Amino acid sequence: MVGKGTPSFGKKQKRSHVLCRRCGKRSYNIRLRKCSNCGFGASSKIKRYTWHTKTLTGKRKK
Ligand SMILES: [Zn+2]
Repeated sequence: MVGKGTPSFGKKQKRSHVLCRRCGKRSYNIRLRKCSNCGFGASSKIKRYTWHTKTLTGKRKK
């Protein structure tokens, strides 16, 4: 009898992300074969956003 706690306990979450070879973060999606952090796998160049350049380059572009 389960009264308290998480109802879905025991239901293991399949990990969709593993360590990325390029950025080292656990953001590489196995199913999509693409890193959600740096975009590895999708294209040859590192994924960039205007709001993300700050962390990549150190300073924000105008
Ligand atoms: Zn990555």
